Amino acid sequence: MKAINEEKKKQLSSLPSVDELLKSPEGSQWLSVTPRKIVIQAIRDVLAEKRKNILDSQTPEISLEAIISDIDLRIRKFSSYSLMPVINATGIVIHTNLGRALLSEKAVRNIIDVARGYSNLEYDLETGKRGKRHTHTKRLLKQITGAEDAFIVNNNAAAVLLCLNTLAKGREVIVSRSELVEIGGSFRVPDVMAAGSAVLKEVGTTNKTHLYDYKRAINRNTGMILKVHQSNYKIIGFTEDVKIEELISLGKKNRIPVMYDLGSGCLVDLKPHGIHSEPSVQEIARLGVDIVTFSGDKLLGGPQAGVIAGRKKYVEMAQKNPMARAMRVDKMTIAAFEATLMDYMDDENVIKKIPVLDLLFQTPESILSRARKIASELRRKISNAEIEIIKDFSRAGGGSLPEADFPTFAVSLRPAHITVNVLESRLRRNSPPVIARIKGNSLLLDARTIQKHEIKSLVAAITLALCNPDEF
Ligand SMILES: *Cc1c(COP(=O)(O)O)cnc(C)c1O
Repeated sequence: MKAINEEKKKQLSSLPSVDELLKSPEGSQWLSVTPRKIVIQAIRDVLAEKRKNILDSQTPEISLEAIISDIDLRIRKFSSYSLMPVINATGIVIHTNLGRALLSEKAVRNIIDVARGYSNLEYDLETGKRGKRHTHTKRLLKQITGAEDAFIVNNNAAAVLLCLNTLAKGREVIVSRSELVEIGGSFRVPDVMAAGSAVLKEVGTTNKTHLYDYKRAINRNTGMILKVHQSNYKIIGFTEDVKIEELISLGKKNRIPVMYDLGSGCLVDLKPHGIHSEPSVQEIARLGVDIVTFSGDKLLGGPQAGVIAGRKKYVEMAQKNPMARAMRVDKMTIAAFEATLMDYMDDENVIKKIPVLDLLFQTPESILSRARKIASELRRKISNAEIEIIKDFSRAGGGSLPEADFPTFAVSLRPAHITVNVLESRLRRNSPPVIARIKGNSLLLDARTIQKHEIKSLVAAITLALCNPDEF
């Protein structure tokens, strides 16, 4: 026992001090490129880890070289950002976990321009007086959607919450049971209702709700009729729900505002592209709905935001609600959103200009040509995996267009020396990380969401991941 302790003591005292490490040639090298705080933290962490390992009777590498190399690694980890670009090889275009919509070039440039300096965020350049941040997006939103008025908040969940609170606080909101949905874990219609201080009045059944169900539920305390787009699921079979048109006329007759939570917020007509399940915002606004809400970063293809559009009277009430202040968007969101809307003014080229739409509606030939390029580059570099191009389907994602399958091409990899799970995890921990999908014994790289400029680093990542046969 005593001998072990002596040995441990010897090892502990052989560890270099923070000061010694800082004064070593490597130390000055680190300090010349990395903030002192980060260097010191990295040294302390590595020494603490070594000390702990010694005391736990493990046998850590405590040569100076090993310690320095560990510190090197840790400094690199501390100096890199937590939020970083990844290569999306999942084929899911609006991937909520991977940041949803890619912004257009115009939107990105506008964020940079506005963020770099001062702006007229809340300053009226005509009068020289205080202005409103909502002015910057209002004109285009009204023009594009056809709604009387509109403004944006932080996301669609906030938009729904704000409208419920503004129009139905302490009052009943009639919703069909088939629309009491949960979207992405934390947005559940009943919970949002409670948070907005509205009282949920469920009507109908899971598969069928009739107009008379809504009619019967109306009373003196009804504050709103709400329709929620079943964006991320579909009830099939013996079903029936009430069209928004019918709800709008019911609402009019009874002087009750009707709101439609559209979710995705598509601003182009997708029917020519074979998609009939997603009404455009314009279509819904034209029907005369009192309020429509939708996301900025789903099919719209802009920054995270929630749009509240509809009758001027109601939109203004929502804008004046004190809660709106807690949901207000920042200048970078406004910059990106306005630029994205500007892209929509060019009707003929909008699909090409908005990356989300471009990725969804690119031709199979262009996906195949990227898949071929990836496969041929890989074949030149590696011999320890089977590589083939397969036909597959990609999804829109983000709860958008759940029924639509988008035919795609994927590069399928079957590694010879490591399991497909090891390959997947190595790619995920690459710099930049590559996020891919496992199917059976293959790793699928869906060419739909892999951009041309990413192919080189994708191939390098795969080559590196396959070169080491050992697990790490
Ligand atoms: C996505 C979605 C939401 C939530 O929108 P966020 O912008 O993610 O807050 C709300 N309602 C519906 C119907 C949706 O599809």
